[in-house]
Amino acid sequence: MNDLLSSLPNMNSLTEHPIFVNMGNERVKSVARAILDDLRHQILSGAISNAPSLDECAGLIFERLSTESSNLRRVINATGVVLHTNLGRAPLGKEMLAEALIACEGYNNLEYDLKTGKRGSRYTHVENLICEIIETEAALVVNNNAAAMVLILATLAAGKNVAISRGELVEIGGSFRVPEIIMQSGAELIEIGSTNKTKLSDYADAVEHKNAELLLKVHTSNYEIVGFTQSVSISELSEYGASVGRPVVYDAGSSFLIDTQPYGFDAGETAMSGLKAGADIICFSGDKLMGCAQAGIIAGRSDLISAMKKHPLTRALRPDKLTLSVLESALRQYRYPDEAATRIPVLAMLFSKSDNLKLRAESFTTRLKASLTNCRVDAVEVMDETGGGSLPNVPLPGWAVSIKPSTLSVNALEQGLRAYKTPIIIRIQDEAILVSVRTLLPGDEDVISEALIELEGKADGGDISHD
Ligand SMILES: *Cc1c(COP(=O)(O)O)cnc(C)c1O
Repeated sequence: MNDLLSSLPNMNSLTEHPIFVNMGNERVKSVARAILDDLRHQILSGAISNAPSLDECAGLIFERLSTESSNLRRVINATGVVLHTNLGRAPLGKEMLAEALIACEGYNNLEYDLKTGKRGSRYTHVENLICEIIETEAALVVNNNAAAMVLILATLAAGKNVAISRGELVEIGGSFRVPEIIMQSGAELIEIGSTNKTKLSDYADAVEHKNAELLLKVHTSNYEIVGFTQSVSISELSEYGASVGRPVVYDAGSSFLIDTQPYGFDAGETAMSGLKAGADIICFSGDKLMGCAQAGIIAGRSDLISAMKKHPLTRALRPDKLTLSVLESALRQYRYPDEAATRIPVLAMLFSKSDNLKLRAESFTTRLKASLTNCRVDAVEVMDETGGGSLPNVPLPGWAVSIKPSTLSVNALEQGLRAYKTPIIIRIQDEAILVSVRTLLPGDEDVISEALIELEGKADGGDISHD
């Protein structure tokens, strides 16, 4: 036993291990101390009979450092909900982040014009790209789409009346309520039409008799009224707006930046379609169907966007360098739609062909069947979701691995997966857990498989209670 104790690596050799080269010595030392204490206890209690090697010890320390250090950490999304609002919406992918790392690790030209050596603007890095891709004359980026709405209304309609259909006074994601946003921006809300029917004459009435100076249309992202309904299209409204000199603003919420039909995805608006229909200004989120960082993109008429740029709120809502560099990287990919469709993770996930998902689910099933002894494992068809309040009525048929444990409850298994070193978030259905393959990243199967084997083993050893 003493031999074992003395064969444990010493503190210096551990802290000098190359694996820790980018980490603070004090932090490494403190975790190393805790791990060495644990190991000594385990040796003294006879729980282990081999002292781990230097590399193994360093590995244990590294693992604890990487899992214990962050509150905000990577999780595996096995829910099949692509834009999962609670799981950070759009995953960014390595390409976008690689460019952000290069631009932000050191200094950059965020507000410096390299041609003149004078002060530049942070907005120029992405404005032209946005204009080129969605075919418009001006653009502005703010923190998120809620901020975009506030800025648009504060600039164009503070102290003025804004007409909007009662059917579009929606609440999105708990804290974004259109009427409150209008009020906060200093504009006066004029509700027109009814919940299920709004006609062009309702807008005309608001303009002619209630002094409406801006016509607002909001995409009712997360709900749909069906049955006896009528609404005014953007093109009808825009034509009318132009004829009476009232700007039409369209909050699209979530927009694609490429035509999705070539990829077999026959749903969802594009930012281009709102503008082509004649809206003076559109806005949408960066981290919904665009599949990028949290941002609000405002695009359209340059005189209106110029006014927004000068508004004092713009300074309070401005995006930072990380967002802008990720955004620029995504926009550069969008110039080549076929590449965007496969390289931007949200698009790749949404456009995944059912056959490919089936193959992936089947091969994962085969693998799990071979390694799990107390679970029933099947590849099953499921309904995935776009999520993020986007396309709620667009079916997204997918494939999952269904895992029915026999030695522990599904709830215990769900908890065990959620508590795993890389937390794994799944759905429960019919007394089984479902691992949807659509939202898995490469390599996720390895982690899920390890976790399941570990949890199954623990259940046999009685570590996890049946509940
Ligand atoms: C999601 C959404 C918003 C809010 O966008 P954030 O980027 O989350 O701030 C606003 N309007 C509509 C229609 C939306 O769908």
